[in-house]
Amino acid sequence: MIEIQDIHKSFGDNHVLKGIDAIFEPGRVSLIIGGSGSGKSTLLKCIVGLHQPEQGKVYFDRQEFTQMDSEDRVSIRRDIGMLFQNSALFDSMTVEQNIVFGLDMFTDMSKKEKIDRANFCLERVNLKGTNKLYPAELSGGMKKRVGIARAISMSPKYLFCDEPNSGLDPATSILIDELIQELTGEYQCTTIVVTHDMNSVMGIGEYILFLHKGEKFWEGSNEEMLQADVAELNNFVFASPL
Ligand code: ADP
Ligand code: MG
Repeated sequence: MIEIQDIHKSFGDNHVLKGIDAIFEPGRVSLIIGGSGSGKSTLLKCIVGLHQPEQGKVYFDRQEFTQMDSEDRVSIRRDIGMLFQNSALFDSMTVEQNIVFGLDMFTDMSKKEKIDRANFCLERVNLKGTNKLYPAELSGGMKKRVGIARAISMSPKYLFCDEPNSGLDPATSILIDELIQELTGEYQCTTIVVTHDMNSVMGIGEYILFLHKGEKFWEGSNEEMLQADVAELNNFVFASPL
């Protein structure tokens, strides 16, 4: 479980996050949604420690991450799998090398174990046989799946995905969502997905944290959102000038 309390983050005069509270439960997919510039990526970065919030607390399974020194943070980081917005694959490395690279940094597996693990994860995301290809040889959806394979290679307790559907066609988008949902069940990980894709919200949003101008605008499940008149929320947030 991940709990955040009263998270504030500014960049200069720009007060981006204005006191966000939320609880993200294990074994389910939580979504952070909101219009462009509402602070979604900033919040995710505060949770993983890429940004230090000026105020507020982040707990990973009741351990306060925000107060930890960098050594203790490493033990939490080992349990985090992250899919970055642009997949963040190294173009000069093969698919397999991209996954092994992460395992090199955080595990002491033998070379063979790392290669076996990389290929197991590729198979898991339906990319068997692509291990010797380079990212440039892959479609956008395949790159996302390599990113997911890399994120799950260390059997994460926490899985974070920033805009996993960006740049994908609707059908591929649904496949990626289903994969994230399946893996969350399989690993019982605490999964947080940042998205502005309303199909994802309706499809996999068991818990939705809706940000607007750096504040929590609404939270609930996809079913509750339907009852809350999603069209109105959607128009208000996504069509409002920022
Ligand atoms: P979202 O992901 O919801 O589109 P972001 O969290 O990326 O929004 O950005 C929210 C606000 O914070 C924007 O005004 C953006 O310009 C600002 N911001 C984000 N990251 C930085 C940064 N590293 N330095 C300065 N300003 C930033
Ligand atoms: Mg963003």
